[in-house]
Amino acid sequence: MADLREPDCLFCKIVDGTIPATVVRETELTLAFRDIHPQAPTHVLVIPKAHYPNAATLAAADPRTAAALLTDAAAVAADEQIAETGYRLVFNTGKAAGQTVFHAHVHLLGGEPFHEGLV
Ligand code: C5P
Repeated sequence: MADLREPDCLFCKIVDGTIPATVVRETELTLAFRDIHPQAPTHVLVIPKAHYPNAATLAAADPRTAAALLTDAAAVAADEQIAETGYRLVFNTGKAAGQTVFHAHVHLLGGEPFHEGLV
């Protein structure tokens, strides 16, 4: 695992245990924990342990870990029993898209039907 940390990054502090989180899955490369402001019955964030500011910079620098976010999200969806009914994965990338924490993460949302959205 790349030893990349940003001292002021909230999610780096969750990775190192300085800030608590409800962790649902951990691998060598990634951590998955429940969002503190859930927007759906299941709302889990899957993040790389190493610090990259967003999904695009992660994918460019470390495609293996970027892919792990997807496989880990699928594993969490199976654990949460929403794999069959369906779920949504969202990567907010940049301020205009609503990104507020600048450490790459994917939102896993499910457990209720979604209305049609922008996509
Ligand atoms: O995509 P965006 O950057 O907006 O998502 C950040 C997410 O991190 C928010 O949904 C917020 O509720 C979540 N969060 C969290 N635990 C924290 C701080 C933020 O789950 N300690």
